[in-house]
Amino acid sequence: MKTKILLKESEMPTHWYNVAADLSNPPAPYLGPDGNPVPPEAMLAIFPEALVMQEVSTERWIEIPGEVREALSLWRPSPLFRAHRLEQALKTPAKIYYKNEAVSPAGSHKPNTAVAQAYYNKQAGIKRLVTETGAGQWGCSLALAGQMFGIDVRVFMVKISYQQKPYRRSMMQTWGAEVFASPTNMTETGRRILAEHPDSNGSLGIAISEAVEEAAGRADSNYALGSVLNHVCLHQTIIGQEAKKQLEMVGDYPDVVIACCGGGSNFAGLAFPFVADKAAGKNVQLIAAEPTSCPTLTKGVYTYDWGDAVGLTPLMKMYTLGHDFMPPGIHAGGLRYHGDSALVSQLHKEGVVDAVAVPQLETFEAGVLFARTEGIIPAPESTHAIAATIREAKRCTETGEPKTLLFNLSGHGHFDMASYDRYFAGELEDFEYPEEAIKESLAHLPKFG
Ligand SMILES: *Cc1c(COP(=O)(O)O)cnc(C)c1O
Repeated sequence: MKTKILLKESEMPTHWYNVAADLSNPPAPYLGPDGNPVPPEAMLAIFPEALVMQEVSTERWIEIPGEVREALSLWRPSPLFRAHRLEQALKTPAKIYYKNEAVSPAGSHKPNTAVAQAYYNKQAGIKRLVTETGAGQWGCSLALAGQMFGIDVRVFMVKISYQQKPYRRSMMQTWGAEVFASPTNMTETGRRILAEHPDSNGSLGIAISEAVEEAAGRADSNYALGSVLNHVCLHQTIIGQEAKKQLEMVGDYPDVVIACCGGGSNFAGLAFPFVADKAAGKNVQLIAAEPTSCPTLTKGVYTYDWGDAVGLTPLMKMYTLGHDFMPPGIHAGGLRYHGDSALVSQLHKEGVVDAVAVPQLETFEAGVLFARTEGIIPAPESTHAIAATIREAKRCTETGEPKTLLFNLSGHGHFDMASYDRYFAGELEDFEYPEEAIKESLAHLPKFG
């Protein structure tokens, strides 16, 4: 019985798959504060033209440039594993497969889009990329990609993480990036926040505002985002295309495809290539797994909202908990974004994509079982996908159905051991985000038109 199913480098996909070609309704446009669609040109202040074109494209296939494929080949194609030992532990008749995206140098799926974004910015003559990072996964991925394509990278890292996750900061610096604890006194936004709250711990919203402000203010600099946007989801579709080929090699096809969902990019990466099959009549279930403490798809509303906390971005139609939603401090598993990819949101609205919310203790329990059976210590984010997969596998045990399950291991947890420590020490608890708090946050949705 095979455990690792491997593709040759020459079998790496040559094109990204654009799900916008297979939607039953046209994607909702991004809107300005006046309620009118934002013209693509408006995005050129912070993104290169090639990425703006991808953002609005409805072409089904978009070619992956040779230099990007060459960069990706450092860790791709990534292996597909059959989780024999997890199956045995669960005594399930289900077959469980997982795509291992932890094999990238930064340890997650995020470099798949980072290298593409660095490449297109380099082509456009950009000298520097500016971004934000929370826990550090995205900052590391962009630092790596900047190094590969000769672009300087400047990262605004949320101050509390900068202090609590020093090794992610050193990784970024090792790959040559400049890292600053946000809020800084380098931007208008940062100075304003510090004047009011000199002891501010920072937030992702503040760090985004600092990065966008700096990128917009300098001709040699652009901004880069690690999830949510259509072009980011597009770059990740290499994952699902590879997985399909790998399953074909062992004569299999999934009944259920599962990934965790924060901004939606690793879910999109694995699941979107199956949307095309589903549109063509195949019976395959696609499940996005999210935390009960940040239940965007399962408890949010589908409407226009800002992508950031302070209203700098265009309005995007998506499932949202409200842009000023704050996940509880007790939550240790990442996936804290208040909104979700517009494409994932639309597919959920149209019933193509299902969603489940998983409580924190169940996710860590699943992560520990996975580490003790399959060996790899998963990122806390990825444990949401593992927990959702285990639920499906247990259902199969009850019904006796030998379903084929496929999930995405979006990253390893080597820099998240403090969260595992909190779990082992019994310091974590389940948290169901209260309906009233969601209502309160949704009351601040933008009003326009
Ligand atoms: C960033 C991250 C996620 C969540 O982001 P998506 O855009 O929803 O994929 C999931 N897993 C890992 C390991 C991450 O670093």
